[in-house]
Amino acid sequence: MSQIAYVNGAYVPMRHAAISINDRGFQFGDSIYEVWPVRGGQLRDSEGHFARMQRSLNEIRVPAPMDERALNLVIKETMRRNKVRDGIVYIQISRGVAPRDHTFPTKPTKPTLIITAKNLDQAGMRKRGAEGVKVITTPEIRWARRDIKSVNLLPNILQRQAAKEAGAFEAWFVDADGFITEGTSSNAWIVDAQGRLRTRPLSNDILHGVTRASVLKVAQERQMQVIEEPFTLAEAKAAREAFVTGAGAPIFPVVAIDDTPVGEGKPGPVTQALRAAYLGA
Ligand code: PLP
Repeated sequence: MSQIAYVNGAYVPMRHAAISINDRGFQFGDSIYEVWPVRGGQLRDSEGHFARMQRSLNEIRVPAPMDERALNLVIKETMRRNKVRDGIVYIQISRGVAPRDHTFPTKPTKPTLIITAKNLDQAGMRKRGAEGVKVITTPEIRWARRDIKSVNLLPNILQRQAAKEAGAFEAWFVDADGFITEGTSSNAWIVDAQGRLRTRPLSNDILHGVTRASVLKVAQERQMQVIEEPFTLAEAKAAREAFVTGAGAPIFPVVAIDDTPVGEGKPGPVTQALRAAYLGA
């Protein structure tokens, strides 16, 4: 089945889907994106993703191309046309098309909106969830506004490729003080030496993960001990358990960090319980 993309008002076969070479997203990365997980044909954590998308747009001063209700309809139609049941919806919104100039266009410019949707390999997801994944670590080399879901992902891409080449699933960034910030496309968590779930607090240092927020809620509802406090690489390596969260990584246990086994080197009980609770929620 050929994939269908939504591009600025039209549903088009992927091979014909195109934007201008003067699109500011292409020229400058002057663009934000959002990714919704889809489970059983439904958007998961839908409001959280809409809210973060709106926040990213506000931060870069781009108007929303349509209101949330209309966008929801277009998302659902893109899912329907691509027969998506378990996968992701991807949206990108750029400042639009204008002659190349670093400053914002002086003439009124319509934002570019593209939407795609696809199923993800569920067997692979289940395997990573059940067996866990390895992560490598790498110096934090990104800009200071990581809270904006910008398409400027070059550092993330380079470090994710390094992870792949090292046989790992994810790369965790380590800041100048030795603390883990997050992964290239996921938030980082540990179960620390005191048995507390621990993840870095929200700030401009990390993307405000929607899955992170959802998992925090599930953990709190179950009276699990949770603290939002940074942890160092040394603490991560000495942790009882570790895991990552993201739209494409709904709690994947981390079994090794830079080849040091985490805990017993297999998914731990707290992570497994939390994963089951989150997936069942
Ligand atoms: N951190 C980064 C850098 C990401 O790119 C992502 C998701 O793509 C996340 C964290 C996890 O965010 P979410 O749970 O909203 O998918």
